[in-house]
Amino acid sequence: MKGKNIISVRISSRGEKRLKSGHPWIFKSDIVESSSNEAGLAVILNKNKKFLASAFYSPSSQITLRILSRKEEKIDCDWFATKIKSAIELRKKLNICSNSIRIIYGESDGLPAVIADKYDDVISFQTLCAGVDVFRNEIINALSDVLKPSSIIERNDAITRKAENLPRRVGVVAGTYDEHPIIKEDRFSFLVDVLCGQKTGAYLDQRDNRILAGKIAYGSVLDCFSYEGWFGVHMSYNAKSVLCVDSSAQAVSNAQKNIEINGLKGKVKVLEANVFDFLKAEDQKGAVYDCINLDPPPFVKSIRNRESGFRGYKEINLRAMKILRRRGGLLFTSSCSYNFSEDDFDVMLANAALDAKVNAKILYRRNAAADHPNLTTFPESNYLKFRVLYISS
Ligand code: SAH
Repeated sequence: MKGKNIISVRISSRGEKRLKSGHPWIFKSDIVESSSNEAGLAVILNKNKKFLASAFYSPSSQITLRILSRKEEKIDCDWFATKIKSAIELRKKLNICSNSIRIIYGESDGLPAVIADKYDDVISFQTLCAGVDVFRNEIINALSDVLKPSSIIERNDAITRKAENLPRRVGVVAGTYDEHPIIKEDRFSFLVDVLCGQKTGAYLDQRDNRILAGKIAYGSVLDCFSYEGWFGVHMSYNAKSVLCVDSSAQAVSNAQKNIEINGLKGKVKVLEANVFDFLKAEDQKGAVYDCINLDPPPFVKSIRNRESGFRGYKEINLRAMKILRRRGGLLFTSSCSYNFSEDDFDVMLANAALDAKVNAKILYRRNAAADHPNLTTFPESNYLKFRVLYISS
């Protein structure tokens, strides 16, 4: 790659073993020596200086190397374009009922720490480690050449970048962005504020779960942690009324717009509130809902706060179970914490049901939509858990 030095990094036998297991990360503790302390493209060598792989090198991150290729090949603009093309190829097979798709899902698409979402013909991307940030221009050019979008938006305001002292960068980096795209998801439309919305603008991982919720939700619906009302709008389809609750004023204001776009004013309402306080008050009031959706932010950010995260998940699920109809209430519940496993989630739900004194049956267990594929050798790519529970007494 023009103007970019290739760094040599030797790793330990333990690191080599990990690499051979197919995992795409090498941690700091397995770095033996490196030819530079600057982030960028690296070749990984074993103890005997034999080539193992090429990788993004992020010297100040605990995840110091992220594997790009296990072949001795040139990592250049064409290489990036080829990766993007194969990611698109995979998505073409999925017949997604939306004009909004996750085009690149990092390691799973062979482009570690790169996220790119397509909102109609606007691309929103993130580069989430120092090693890949060096290739920001190559990535923008490849996205532009392959996808020919109307605009490319950089959303490099993720908190994870701070840990590596990477600058906050948000803005239009290619094309023109005059108005927010309106995207279709199944039978509904949503406005996406690609510049200021959370993450890259929206949460595409929940697409299939929202569509399922839209098919089976009924009666009075409560959508907690509703962001811009996407679950709530879907769940209104067969419902009598929907109340969306979120603590972000911006999310609440955009949810109002989504409600209007879909002609649901009157049926779907939004409230700016803290869900913990709101559920407690509803419980004390003796409120009853037919369906409740819980889609909180990650409560278990690292193994260290697993206990407090468990308590947070249990509190909201317990409260929701208590205010759900005792005969046929439906609880839609999610966790997006990788460090909170499928088992942790089920144990938490069982504890919550016992304390709420309800009988809870799991009807569906799901994960993220298929445009967020999981590499078999990279369990970290599977973070989202979603359940639908049938509540009775
Ligand atoms: N269900 C949404 C995504 C939810 S993301 C969708 O399908 O698009 C989580 C949301 O929780 C964010 O919008 C955030 O603003 C909100 N949030 C975080 N903590 C909260 C709290 N304590 N009370 C209410 N909302 C909260």
